[in-house]
Amino acid sequence: MAAWKKLIGLAPRQPLPYVISEQPHALAEAEGSLVNAADAHNSDALSIRYLGTAGFVISHRDRTIVLDPYLTRPGIIASLTQRLIPNAELIKKHIPHADDVLIGHAHHDHILDGPDLCKQTGARLIGSQATRQVGLAAGLPESQLLATDGNEDIASGPWTVRGLPSLHGKIMGRIPFPGDLSTPPPWPPRMHELRHGLVLNWLVDTGSLKVMHIDSADFINEQLQGQRCDILCLCAIGRQARPNYVRDAISLLRPRWVIPCHWDTMVTPLEAEPDLLPGVDLLGFLDEIREAGATPLLTPMLGTQVFTTT
Ligand SMILES: [Zn+2]
Repeated sequence: MAAWKKLIGLAPRQPLPYVISEQPHALAEAEGSLVNAADAHNSDALSIRYLGTAGFVISHRDRTIVLDPYLTRPGIIASLTQRLIPNAELIKKHIPHADDVLIGHAHHDHILDGPDLCKQTGARLIGSQATRQVGLAAGLPESQLLATDGNEDIASGPWTVRGLPSLHGKIMGRIPFPGDLSTPPPWPPRMHELRHGLVLNWLVDTGSLKVMHIDSADFINEQLQGQRCDILCLCAIGRQARPNYVRDAISLLRPRWVIPCHWDTMVTPLEAEPDLLPGVDLLGFLDEIREAGATPLLTPMLGTQVFTTT
């Protein structure tokens, strides 16, 4: 690891405390009763794989939902100066199957690989009206597009998904590439041509466990009020962008576990060790999660956390 990366905060000063679980995380265990390890291994578990940035794959039995896939990750110069071309081979290699693809907002680092993944798998691209415009731009048929204004239960096989209207956080005092998309943008797009549109926090109810995905650095308390989740995928940038971001999210949603996301620079190759986003203070983020009463599960790129569903 280059020393200069440590100096400017791109690399951790000590190894990151990744959670590599030997056996599934179990709600019953968290509540104080013992879970037989053999039973835990034998139960049909829910798995959540982290794709970097705000991307996740949630799988249980035959159902697979993908959130905000962004595997292509062009380098910083290419990202700033060139059209962004999804890496179809890389997408196929790492996400061979998807039933539905949920998009939190239409910025490139949340949506770029969504349409190609849908083309490869036949999955629906589900998100805001802006997400629909991006899907149209990429050539997806109407049959694979589902737009929502939020607060709507959408059946995804035996699961239910619901987008809760949210806000895009300010990064260094301003919202990057603000606005909406009412017509299809150029495709492949340049970074600035993808405007965020309506931001949605996705609640994925698998029938046994609920997973909430907050992929932006802000949210609306009233939208989260009354919701509960077992697992919260939470954007680490938010801690710098919104007062009491971690504490409020956890006190509203009462998750047992929090999987941090959006803590890397997203301009390193997917299969390389990621660089830390300077200023995020990932270890401080983990401490705040613990102080708020949840267990952080810092997951390496392409790492998987497994949960028992009983
Ligand atoms: Zn964004």
